[in-house]
Amino acid sequence: MGLFGHRRTVFTDCDILVIGGGMAGCGATYESRYWGRDLKIVCVEKANIERSGAVAQGLYAINCYMGMQWGENRPEDHVRYARNDLMGLVREDLGYDIARHVDSTVHKFEEWGLPIMRDPATGRYQREGKWQIMIHGESYKPIVAEAARKAATEVCNRIMVTHLLMDATKPNRAAGAVGFNVRTGHFHVFRAKAVIVCAGGASHIFKPRAVGEGMGRTWYAPWSSASAYALPILAGAKMTQMENRIVLTRFKDGYGPVGAYFLHLKTYTQNAYGEEYESKWFDKLREQIGEYVDHHPVPTCLRNHAFLEEVKAGRGPIRMVTTEAFQDPHKETVGWENFLGMTIGQAVVWASQNIDPKHINPELTTSEPYVMGSHATCSGAWASGPADCAPSEYQWGYNRMMTVDGLFGAGDTIGGSAHKFSSGSFTEGRIAGKAAVNYVNDLGREQPQVSEAELADLKKAIYRPMENYAIGRNEIVAGTVSPSYLLPLHGLQRLEKIMDEYVGGIGAHYTTNAPMLTRGLELLAMLKEDLDHIGAEDLHQLQRAWELEHRVLASEAVTQHTMFRTETRWPGYYYRADHPKLDDTDWHCFTLSRYDRHSGQWQMEKAPVYHIVD
Ligand SMILES: Cc1cc2nc3c(=O)[nH]c(=O)nc-3n(C[C@H](O)[C@H](O)[C@H](O)COP(=O)(O)OP(=O)(O)OC[C@H]3O[C@@H](n4cnc5c(N)ncnc54)[C@H](O)[C@@H]3O)c2cc1C
Repeated sequence: MGLFGHRRTVFTDCDILVIGGGMAGCGATYESRYWGRDLKIVCVEKANIERSGAVAQGLYAINCYMGMQWGENRPEDHVRYARNDLMGLVREDLGYDIARHVDSTVHKFEEWGLPIMRDPATGRYQREGKWQIMIHGESYKPIVAEAARKAATEVCNRIMVTHLLMDATKPNRAAGAVGFNVRTGHFHVFRAKAVIVCAGGASHIFKPRAVGEGMGRTWYAPWSSASAYALPILAGAKMTQMENRIVLTRFKDGYGPVGAYFLHLKTYTQNAYGEEYESKWFDKLREQIGEYVDHHPVPTCLRNHAFLEEVKAGRGPIRMVTTEAFQDPHKETVGWENFLGMTIGQAVVWASQNIDPKHINPELTTSEPYVMGSHATCSGAWASGPADCAPSEYQWGYNRMMTVDGLFGAGDTIGGSAHKFSSGSFTEGRIAGKAAVNYVNDLGREQPQVSEAELADLKKAIYRPMENYAIGRNEIVAGTVSPSYLLPLHGLQRLEKIMDEYVGGIGAHYTTNAPMLTRGLELLAMLKEDLDHIGAEDLHQLQRAWELEHRVLASEAVTQHTMFRTETRWPGYYYRADHPKLDDTDWHCFTLSRYDRHSGQWQMEKAPVYHIVD
């Protein structure tokens, strides 16, 4: 059993295990209790649900609210909006399902104490844009977490989940998960009848713009470490649209949000010479992607595309014109409060760089790519849809169940359904929670069967990085360079470099092609081999080691999917230079992958896109 075999093992048996207590996980926990009054519901989280996940530091807007009580929007309108933004490819059944329930989620948030701004003239929620409402959201996450805490039988904070458990008697059924406590080091085994993965998206798989001491300054939360993808991938679940990484246009260096600026403050962008630049790129783009360029609103990726082309043409930097709006004291207050409520770092960056947006138009930049399922992008697991509106090909049992029995997901975890944001992720968690309760009830007395041998193997594998370190630490060549192990940070930087250079990161102007992807896959395979030799000097580094494992596997999925889709569907997110055009004849479809953890092989296939809304 090795040096660390003595670690204590803690068993927890439950009906429903929720992995990750962010927005989706809190929703799943809350709703599971509503439908499963007598069930044992456990939420396991690597941080503390009070302030964990992408909403940790608060938000200033809820980006998905229909406003059906005032006749503002219909769920069908949201489906059309998301479909347009994703260049035609979304799981309309999943999106519709969220849109029809999301308002009730937001009403709950308000009931629980979230201050939502109101329009003094109408008494309705203050709109930032067609889908967004404004909140005083510094405490958004603690408010939502309280509801989950009250609903859960137990919340297990500080436990990093590393693997899912499969049922020993049924090959395609989830039976729980394992991980370790990042403070005590105990090995935790959760045996569960149903598992709901809600472990957020993935940052730091592509090299970030801010490196060295500033490497934590990414747009997406640095602790979003791709577990949402790696856990299902390892369990053999099918994934979809993993090539659909997202690139964000944000304020430079702090990645402060631009939504409130564009929508509420009515600021706009211009090039270094004070000119409007966006529209002039669209004629040329029409040759590559056809009529999509004329859609309204302009899809997010295409706006990025115009930005990137203008900068490449030497007319950067692109700036946000704030100097006009900030003359209005109300707008100036909103502009600053927007950062104080969700990205305080941007205010600090401006202060440190002598940028007063009342007098200077601040620079924008495009971020490194991220993988997510809840924003203007839809990577994630392939899930069964709602019984009443999903086409039969998208239904194999329970809503939001993946292609593995008993394995559910929500939020960033689930693919194909973009534009959920915080409220939609919580809502999808609720949907998955309700379905998981049905699944558990249908199972009756059947208990998950977990093999002792599998547990022993996993325990050994999980602590191996600490063993590697303990054995090899005296063989240091210089500084932190060792001939016998690789530190998690070194592995991360190697991953980011591979993804950046070969799979379409910032260093390659978001561009790749088949030969580059092929080489990227070769280098990823070598990195995977070296992961057996990661060294972790303490529990904190052990967590970093497993986050790296998860990021590498998700990166492999991204690369395989990017290779498979031989077109450029989302210019501005990435470009296949060898297939520069959008190709609706062959690629108006979803890409699906399945990983075989025994052979290390990926199987790729296409799935049809059904338009259920006209
Ligand atoms: C910078 C930024 C700005 C945003 N702005 C807005 C906005 O203005 N309005 C809006 O509505 N939405 C916004 N969003 C989107 C919103 O935050 C996400 O859609 C939402 O948080 C996704 O929910 P989730 O539960 O999937 O992921 P998260 O909320 O990130 O939760 C994932 C949870 O899983 C935990 N976890 C991860 N791995 C493991 C593991 N291995 N073991 C145990 N636990 C694990 C994490 O610690 C975390 O608690 C923004 C997101 C970002 C990053």
